[in-house]
Amino acid sequence: MAESRIPIKSLSFEEIEARFSALAQPRYRAKQLIEWVYARKARSFAEMSNLPEPLRRQLDDAFLFEPFEAVRVLGSEDTTRKYLFRLADGALIESVLIPASPALYGEASDRRTLCISTQVGCAYGCKFCASGLDGWSRNLGASEIVEQVMQVERLSGEKINNLVFMGMGEPLANFANLMKAIGIINAPWGVGLGARHITISTSGLAPQIRELAEQPLQVRLAISLHGATDEVRSQIMPVNRKYPLAVLLEACAYYTERKKQRLTFEYILIEEVNDRPEDAAALARIARKLQAKINCIPYNSVEGLDWRRPAEHRLDAFMAVLEGARIPATIRREKGHDISAACGQLRRQMLPAAAESGATV
Ligand code: SAH
Ligand code: SF4
Repeated sequence: MAESRIPIKSLSFEEIEARFSALAQPRYRAKQLIEWVYARKARSFAEMSNLPEPLRRQLDDAFLFEPFEAVRVLGSEDTTRKYLFRLADGALIESVLIPASPALYGEASDRRTLCISTQVGCAYGCKFCASGLDGWSRNLGASEIVEQVMQVERLSGEKINNLVFMGMGEPLANFANLMKAIGIINAPWGVGLGARHITISTSGLAPQIRELAEQPLQVRLAISLHGATDEVRSQIMPVNRKYPLAVLLEACAYYTERKKQRLTFEYILIEEVNDRPEDAAALARIARKLQAKINCIPYNSVEGLDWRRPAEHRLDAFMAVLEGARIPATIRREKGHDISAACGQLRRQMLPAAAESGATV
């Protein structure tokens, strides 16, 4: 039988209140429920000991706790940890927890970044990315997005203080659910994470970037640029044919102006594809015009794909051009530790084994 109950973590405070008033329940009951769900991370209505039992049964009939199953956790406490989740319909998604690395952020940093997915697969088929290799299956619901944060906090016992939408899928292609989930993640009654600690990464859907500019929340935006000319970008990102650089950069300028916010351009460096000094010069011109920062990521190899990470001297030469142009730019040289790299690429390695073993943690 198809599930007709509504996932509780897809509802805003007001929506839960409205449903409680339809059940002739006083408002404070809605508040109690929300406290159980988010602050106490309850996983069933049965646990909610200060709610009357008949109400708990009613809630069980009307609402659903996301039946997420953690199939596998890879990594150790002080390194990147990868969580593979099986969803209600059997689909597998990943979330990646990246604890502050003293090498990257300094000894005192308590940054704990979580990278989460927004879709099962991805329709955009960037040529270097593992997520798009098998195409797109479906969007994640708002509750499935929120649940990744809740589950990782529960399983790790840690509070996430930085969230990036850089896992599987194109966040802006799942706009309504993304916005809903961010509302809940941001809300003081929900996960309680400040909008400035939330970054959406997009492959460059220009109309949705404009739409995002109209939203009230000050979330951060990162653009996966990876090519500074249409020729290079179209070669590795098919989305560039739909929204070529001129269109994308105009939307970026609009976002920057409207939000008074500095954008980040993500730039994967792939040997002999986009890592020549003239690529760096073109990238610097774009960044200067938009007053954006650049985050360079040496390509992390994906099984089955032939791209290569550039040799060190090529990385040095590329960065030297950006530095010479006085563009704020960073590069992460640790293999596998970069946030975007860590997120974008584990699906292929993990899926077959996890699906076979059926293991749970
Ligand atoms: N679809 C969105 C968000 C998910 S991808 C986007 O494209 O922005 C998150 C980041 O991981 C992107 O910057 C993506 O280009 C990067 N990425 C994908 N595959 C990678 C790889 N093999 N090595 C390094 N970064 C990769
Ligand atoms: Fe999709 Fe982003 Fe991967 Fe491109 S880089 S295929 S948009 S997940």
